[in-house]
Amino acid sequence: KSGFVAIVGRPNVGKSTLLNRIVGQKIAIMSDKAQTTRNKIQGVYTTEDTQIVFIDTPGIHKPKSRLGDFMVETAYSALREVDVVLFMISADQKRGKGDDFIIERLKKSNVPVFLVVNKLDKVQPDQLLLTIEDYAKQMEFAEVVPISATEGNNFETLMQIIEDKL
Ligand code: GDP
Ligand code: MG
Repeated sequence: KSGFVAIVGRPNVGKSTLLNRIVGQKIAIMSDKAQTTRNKIQGVYTTEDTQIVFIDTPGIHKPKSRLGDFMVETAYSALREVDVVLFMISADQKRGKGDDFIIERLKKSNVPVFLVVNKLDKVQPDQLLLTIEDYAKQMEFAEVVPISATEGNNFETLMQIIEDKL
């Protein structure tokens, strides 16, 4: 199987961390500072029978970005060409304007969207459920997968569900 997957989400939710885990090397720069990753970075996940290209999409959370409309449009054009979109959020953060902007754009797309709830290690189960409930009210997700990109929780499950969609 082969396919393309885009990772979208606000800054600091853990997109680069997940991408690094997927490709097993430090290709995306990790930082607490927003917007460190300035380019669309592609990582390739390869197993015996699978090849999946992952695309990191910084700047996608703002209608008017300092990086310019060009960056945002480039990021969104990437979304149309993928098989699955991973919409990544942080379990310990409330839904904000950046999330709502992304959701509005994702609703218009025909690509299946997985809600990836990262930083599972930082919250209690009840908070995790409330976060998921809140997002699930905004749009329909093909899958909801809580993970910890740093600890590795549910990583194999996530990769399997992605493979199953290709
Ligand atoms: P990006 O802006 O979405 O690419 O986010 P990064 O991958 O740069 O991560 C932002 C910060 O969150 C870094 O300090 C990461 O170490 C941290 N982080 C990422 N994933 C997790 C996680 O699952 N748990 C915890 N506790 N921290 C995480
Ligand atoms: Mg990043």
